[in-house]
Amino acid sequence: MANHHFSVATESSGKHRTSLRVPNLVGGSFVDSKSSEFIDVINPANQEVVSQIPLTTNEEFKSAVTAAKEAFPPWRNTPITTRQRVMLKFQELIRKNMDKLALNVTTEQGKTLKDAQGDVFRGLEVVEHACGMATLQMGEYVANVSNGIDTYSIREPLGVCAGICPFNFPAMIPLWMFPVAVTCGNTFILKPSEKDPGASMMLAELAMEAGLPDGVLNIVHGTHDIVNAICDDDDIRAISFVGSNPAGMHIYSRASAKGKRVQSNMGAKNHGVIMPDANIDSTINALVAAGFGAAGQRCMALSTVVFVGDSKPWEEKLLERAKALKVSAGTEPYADLGPVISKQAKERVCRLVQSGVDSGAKLLLDGRDIVVPGYEKGNFVGPTILCGVTPDMECYKEEIFGPVLICMQANSLDEAINIVNQNKYGNGAAIFTTSGVASRKFQTEIEAGQVGINVPIPVPLPFFSFTGSKASFAGDLNFYGKAGVQFYTQIKTVTQQWKDLPGGSGVSLAMPTSQ
Ligand code: NAD
Repeated sequence: MANHHFSVATESSGKHRTSLRVPNLVGGSFVDSKSSEFIDVINPANQEVVSQIPLTTNEEFKSAVTAAKEAFPPWRNTPITTRQRVMLKFQELIRKNMDKLALNVTTEQGKTLKDAQGDVFRGLEVVEHACGMATLQMGEYVANVSNGIDTYSIREPLGVCAGICPFNFPAMIPLWMFPVAVTCGNTFILKPSEKDPGASMMLAELAMEAGLPDGVLNIVHGTHDIVNAICDDDDIRAISFVGSNPAGMHIYSRASAKGKRVQSNMGAKNHGVIMPDANIDSTINALVAAGFGAAGQRCMALSTVVFVGDSKPWEEKLLERAKALKVSAGTEPYADLGPVISKQAKERVCRLVQSGVDSGAKLLLDGRDIVVPGYEKGNFVGPTILCGVTPDMECYKEEIFGPVLICMQANSLDEAINIVNQNKYGNGAAIFTTSGVASRKFQTEIEAGQVGINVPIPVPLPFFSFTGSKASFAGDLNFYGKAGVQFYTQIKTVTQQWKDLPGGSGVSLAMPTSQ
């Protein structure tokens, strides 16, 4: 079967749904895989099978790369204004299909519908940004670098690029990648998360409806094998990866060894430092939202709180507000947080919470045994708070990636900064204070790539870049913003001479200079 249309399941109840196989997208056609191996995509709120992804075969992968390679010359020669206009139309179509996209995200990933809208919207903003690519991709020009000689630089696309995605933002993260890459003139192979590929499929269909030519965007599916094939393929020039550290470092080294560019955004342990002078009400609200929102499955979730001074009054208020949160399927309008992605994810979260208890932390709130009426099979974990955590504990060292807030204590801002800086990750850190002096010190001394000052999840908008550091990032050009454009382009420098050349001045074999 080959066609230009594709439909994904977006119901949460699943009552009338038949199992649906997710096709590959190759050269502009959605094609069913010939693979004999499939993985179930499971609704984490009720365990129903939403769809099945194939382990795309090597032959199918090769045909996707060939399609992308063949689409590259005409696409790179398509005027930049035309490429921008495809994005302009694409952003309009995303807006029109916002509810449908969000429902698919909730069905496959579990987050609440409102949060799923945010997932789509933060990706949409990258598409909006790509609409101004001509300005972003501009080169530089210096006239008369020598007598009658000018030099200018051109930012050219690389060729075939690839993106490998995590499960936690099924719409936003694919949209961090391919809109920037293709508007620069590249063609693309996207590998969505095997846990929630639906949003990628819908977005690809919308991008083609917006006018993206056949072969400019291709989609393949699978896990380790397809990722390794992407790392090894000689025709792929650059890889964007977002996900965990083991996968990210493996991809970074394997693909770099093949001479590819890699940008790898990885795990996190984001700290919020709370000064005694912080506004109590807004700070507690921020901590609850950033600790438990999306069931803690955000790479910028504020999972660790460091109270400077007496933590007791803060913890009491935190408990009060966390207890009031409603846990249910993301499709229920009253739900504050939905399930975690899988049974294994729930087990990992529970194990890390237990390890904290075993090593002496105090369990202020325990959400591990929660049962959600109507969704008894869901992978739910209720808001959980561990107090008195110390840096040597496993629950502190490991990324929990669940609705678990870890509370620590420090006697001074210096001590708090030291705790944050000792942590291997460097994605984000936030300070809550009414003191400009404290926040400026924090901003200067903290070793994290994204700093919030009274802002809990400081994910920069697309005119800046996503700037995680230390173990949270490998590579040197970040996602989106100016760095994102640099990642997907290489510079050509042209030196030209247009003048009436004086004849008979002889030949000089010395290195040309303009002294
Ligand atoms: P994951 O690493 O398990 O999977 C990410 C992708 O890599 C998937 O497409 C998967 O198929 C592939 N993959 C997984 N293991 C692999 C291996 N050993 N070899 C080759 N490919 C492999 O990550 P996840 O569970 O989907 O996502 C959660 C993680 O992503 C968390 O660590 C989170 O902090 C991180 N994350 C980081 C950012 C960021 O911008 N820094 C954003 C979102 C998520």
